[in-house]
Formats: sequence, structure tokens, C-alpha cells
Amino acid sequence: MTHPVLSAVPHSGRRPFVTIDGWALKSNWRHMANLAPGARTGAAVKANGYGLGAPYVAKALFAAGCRDFFVAWAEEGAEVRAALPGMNYRIFVLQGLDAAAAAICREQKLIPVLSTLDDVRIWQEAGIGKLPAPAALQFETGMNRLGMDEADARRALAIARGGGFDITLVMSHLASADDPTSGQSEGQRASFERIAALFPHVARSLANSAGVFLGKPFHFDLTRPGIALYGGERTLDPQEALRPVATLHAQILQVRTAARGEAAGYGASARLERATRIATIGIGYADGFLRSSSGVTPIRAVEPAPEVAIGGRRAPVLGRVSMDLTLIDVTDLPDDSVVPGEVAEIFGPTISLDETARRAGTIAYEFLTSLGPRVSRFPV
Ligand SMILES: *Cc1c(COP(=O)(O)O)cnc(C)c1O
Repeated sequence: MTHPVLSAVPHSGRRPFVTIDGWALKSNWRHMANLAPGARTGAAVKANGYGLGAPYVAKALFAAGCRDFFVAWAEEGAEVRAALPGMNYRIFVLQGLDAAAAAICREQKLIPVLSTLDDVRIWQEAGIGKLPAPAALQFETGMNRLGMDEADARRALAIARGGGFDITLVMSHLASADDPTSGQSEGQRASFERIAALFPHVARSLANSAGVFLGKPFHFDLTRPGIALYGGERTLDPQEALRPVATLHAQILQVRTAARGEAAGYGASARLERATRIATIGIGYADGFLRSSSGVTPIRAVEPAPEVAIGGRRAPVLGRVSMDLTLIDVTDLPDDSVVPGEVAEIFGPTISLDETARRAGTIAYEFLTSLGPRVSRFPV
């Protein structure tokens, strides 16, 4: 049976596609907002909206009430700006300020997050002879990634007093919030409060998705959830209210039975220990079905092979994932559910994104942001 979405949209061939549940996306944002009632709730929409399409994702979250968007690069900010109506919302650019990015930020009214004194000077120079424009400052609190230590934060404050820009937000980023037993988060929170005290009237932001679940002391004035909105890391939510958003589908191209003792896939890495019915599905690592999802890889010592769901039943990946194709062992599935054109769920409501990612030795973030350009994105 053709997947219902495919009879409604132009889509040639048996290519992979991802359906995106806009209602679930909005519901997840509202859930994160309800968990931090004293703060504004923003959204990380960097990396093309975690792979799902930044314009679509930004519009859905805007409709849900989000007014603070975070992107990595200025160009991503310009894309979000073009997708949303009016100017009554903010776009923060997390990294990579140079003169060209500063010009884009000025032109598009994006708010750069300044993480070094270099950034501060670049933003100040971009404002010479113009009205002051807002900026955010990021502090180092234990991650050693991007951010100014306390001494540089004092220098930044002195530079800002010289004019040219306004500090509208101070922020830092948690390294271990997804591990509630880690003491690092509390240490970072305390450092953040100490440095932020230099900027007494400026709004503060610390929490990513996992940080929101750590509770009120981590919420400050603005939260920045990302992955939770997109249906990843759902097990961190004690209320279990987060919903799957993306369902990745591939279609069966061929079904054949191979004899016991034969091999399957590149490198003959799968040796068949029984007569095996094999479904070949049209998705591979070029589409973001990571090669570490293969049936035989070093990580199989700790994680079983990923499964896909066909007609609601699970079947494991067989042999190596190749660029455009993957083999599935469907021996144990009912015959009539496994025919060319039938759709296999890679992750979604049946098999969680987190499980698929874990079995590939990675995390939901990497799986989503690896979805390739050949994968059609269909809002449903
Ligand atoms: C990506 C990112 C976020 C969102 O993190 P999630 O773990 O996806 O919720 C928040 N803040 C910063 C600085 C980020 O880079």
C-alpha cells in the first residue's frame, strides 16, 4: 500500500522521506514552556531546524508562541527572518562573528552572541556611526567551548560602556545537563550567576532542553530548548509528555530469499545462518542512515543492530548500510507485508529516534541533522 502522504504530494521514485508532525512540534514547545513558567521559552533552530527544515520549523514554533530563535550562523538567521512575518521576535546568532557576518546581522537585525573580546570589537566596529544594536554575551562556565571568562566579561562591559551596542542577554551553556546526577550543572549554574551579576539588569539564559528538566534554578529569564522540541531525548522528561515529531521512511525496492551459507551486502559481512528473506530498502548513509547502523560494526558489541518497522513489525538491518541502499532481514515477518513499494519506518512512533541513534552508536541530534538533501520533508 502506498503511504498516504505520497499520494498527496509530488514525489518521484521510491525515495526516502520524512514526515514532520507540526502539531507534535508545537505541543513539545508548549510543554517546555509550561515546565519553565517564569521564563520566556525560545527555540534552537540551527542546522536547518535540526535537519527538519528551518523555515517550516520556525513558522510552526512562531505559531505556537515562540519569539526567540537561536541559530549557529548569520545566514541561518537570515533564512529564519525570511520565513517569519513582521519583526516582533528575536533571532540570536550563536557563533562565528566576522565583519561579513556582522554586516548580515546589522542588515537583518539579528542579535549576535559575542563569545570573545574579538567578537565584541567586531560588533562595536560594525556599529560605528549607526544606532546602537543589541548583542548577547556568552560566558565560560566549565565547558571550555565558547564564552568569556570573568576577566574578559569585565573588559567587554567596559567596552560596551564606550557605546556602539546594547547588551540584551547574557548566557552560558550546560555541558552535562542530560545527566541529572552530574555535579557539573550546579557548578556551571553558580559560575554563571557570579559572572552575570556584573550585568545586573540584563536578562539571563542558561538552559538547553535538558537544562529545563533540571528545574527552576536553571531557567533564569529565557530557555533555549532544541532537541526536545524535535522529539529527541524524550526519556529525560519525567512527565513523558514529549511526542515524536519526525518519522523517517524508506521504501522496499526488492525482496528475495537467499540460501543458508550465502552472504549479503558489501564485504560479504553478513553470513546467512539460515535461508533468509531480504528486503532491500532505498535509503543509505548518503541520506543520513548512518553507516554505523550496519548489522556488523564494532559497536555491535554493546548495541544490537538497528531495526526498522514494516507493517508495524520490527526487522533488523542485515550487513553493511551502503550509500543508497540497506538490507533488512525480514524472514520473521508475514509475507504479505513485505512487498516492493511497501514503506519501512526507520524511526518514528514505532521505533524511537533515540533508540535508532543509540544503536548506531550516536545521539538523536546527529541522526536528525544528518538527514540528507535527497530525503523529502513532508509536513503532516
Ligand atoms: C544547540 C544549543 C542549544 C539547544 O540544545 P538542546 O540540547 O538541543 O536543547 C541551546 N544553546 C546553545 C548554545 C546551543 O548551541
